[in-house]
Amino acid sequence: MSTNIALPSLTIESIRDGLRRKEFSATELAQAALAFAEKENSKTNAFLTFSQERALRSAARVDDDIARGLDLPPLAGVPLAVKDVIVTRGLRTTCASRILEHYVPPYDATAVVRLEAEGAVIIGKTNCDEFAMGSSNENSAFGPVRNPKALDRVPGGSSGGSAAAVAQGTAVLSLGSDTGGSIRQPASFCGVVGVTPTYGRVSRFGLVAFASSLDHIGPFARTVEDAATVLKIIAGRDELDSTSAFAPVDDYHAAMKHPVEGLKIGLPKEYFEGLGSETGSVIGRAIEQLKKLGCVVREISLPHTKYALSCYYIVATAEASSNLARYDGVRYSSRTDGSTLIDVYRKTRGHGFGAEVKRRIMLGTYVLSAGYYDAYYRKAQQVRNLIARDFTNAFAEVDAIVAPVSPFTAFKIGEKVDDPLAMYLSDVYTLTGDLSGVPCMSVPCGESAEGLPIGLQIFARHFDESTMFRLAYNYERSVKS
Ligand code: GLN
Repeated sequence: MSTNIALPSLTIESIRDGLRRKEFSATELAQAALAFAEKENSKTNAFLTFSQERALRSAARVDDDIARGLDLPPLAGVPLAVKDVIVTRGLRTTCASRILEHYVPPYDATAVVRLEAEGAVIIGKTNCDEFAMGSSNENSAFGPVRNPKALDRVPGGSSGGSAAAVAQGTAVLSLGSDTGGSIRQPASFCGVVGVTPTYGRVSRFGLVAFASSLDHIGPFARTVEDAATVLKIIAGRDELDSTSAFAPVDDYHAAMKHPVEGLKIGLPKEYFEGLGSETGSVIGRAIEQLKKLGCVVREISLPHTKYALSCYYIVATAEASSNLARYDGVRYSSRTDGSTLIDVYRKTRGHGFGAEVKRRIMLGTYVLSAGYYDAYYRKAQQVRNLIARDFTNAFAEVDAIVAPVSPFTAFKIGEKVDDPLAMYLSDVYTLTGDLSGVPCMSVPCGESAEGLPIGLQIFARHFDESTMFRLAYNYERSVKS
């Protein structure tokens, strides 16, 4: 086996080159990635399941194509990790919950099908917050994930394992899911690129539902270019998800190579109040850099931002309480037996769900109950419209919006677990993206004095991922030595 593959610095392109020049075979690469991931997992707990057999099968197909002189598909041999809320046929999918600890899905998510068809090699399923509910990855039933940049700190959540795997070098690409910030926030905390596409851009078929009107699948990668390659493949209409959009998928790579001179950028003032000073100055430097590239930067206002947190925790919990009703010990999930049917439900759900999931189900059931529906759920839907309208108004004047991803850097494991409200504040800058459905991403833009990564958030108009990638790509190139 080739032992000198520099896994942590690989990109899609460098893997292509390596395969073409026969520096390594896809099988050797898969073996090296699996061995590295298994070894590193004792440090970070980023993976819940490894898929040795499936990975080697996919890699063998790529090697076969090479031997037959066929053209390589765009992701030939690229090691990919998949968040464990995205179903994989024959491969355990737990949602980091006891209730699905032994669940083996009979089908693949559409995003998984599309990536494997283009040559990606799935090496395993990544740890996350239980049913994607959390901001630190401490809500996993299988133990927290540790941030590879500082092992005493959280990687962010809920897609912490997917972000950690790419940051650590065990996977070159990964898939995460974002309902309120779960791709961008861990990308920011771990120093990788993370993309939340427009709602409907990527099929949710096979994504275990948390809050269906907010859930997105999106990629993590080490470069903007690699993230765009993944999105290009998974984007587009899917008959199996009626909310997936018919809108054509742009050629992101052609678009991102255009310079950004003259691009109008808005800085929403609400996102800069209460920002930690260190994060503030790193973001400030990134904005100066955008100006140097010729962007025209101005202050804007997204006035309903202050309601996003309350609005999100009503809409998301309401939908979650309904979506999670299916885990009853009869249709899905491990069962705890009881004396009556109600007793089976009660015991199964009582043992199977963790504290945060139970808190959300209770909150959601409450806001949907007959007596409170108008006061909470209906009101939250109205506020959600106002938040979305803020973006529509802003995008009449600017082409992209730039802001921090999180008010702070990766915090210590245990620091916020006893204070759910402090934890929920991790997402104040990311929730609006999901509530309004616009595309948004995190691109690394610097580090704190302690060496903790900080991400720059970019928002664009609905279905205008091209402008988002163009800005991110130009920025990334200008700061990379
Ligand atoms: N942290 C937010 C929550 O706990 C967002 C989670 C997510 O995006 N999946 O709900």
